[in-house]
Amino acid sequence: MPYCPQCLIEYVEGMNKCEDCGSDLQPGSPPAAPPRVEITNEKDVKLVSVRTFTGGTAQMDADLARNILQSQGIPSVLPGETSAELLPVLDVHMLVREEDAERAATVLEEYLDTDAAADTDGDDSTEGD
Ligand SMILES: [Zn+2]
Repeated sequence: MPYCPQCLIEYVEGMNKCEDCGSDLQPGSPPAAPPRVEITNEKDVKLVSVRTFTGGTAQMDADLARNILQSQGIPSVLPGETSAELLPVLDVHMLVREEDAERAATVLEEYLDTDAAADTDGDDSTEGD
């Protein structure tokens, strides 16, 4: 089964481009997805707030940021995940491990603080048609 190296989604035989991102599909099976790190379960981990989202879309923005970091292998924690309650959130503080904070901030700046095409740092993603 071919798969998209960007999305790690498997496609049926015969496909050669990812429907989501337009990347050329690779033959074989996708490599194991980056392990989803549950840092909330780790002990002795120091979390720091890397970014604060505010406003009506704070939660959405935070989720997006989280996905971005996840794709870079940086685990993050958003409040609300640790409590079952869904409270109206004013500020969403995104937490990452202290050791990841600098990198996370850089990644988020690249993705969130620039226009959509932040694909300038040697990333090997292919711009499709
Ligand atoms: Zn894709």
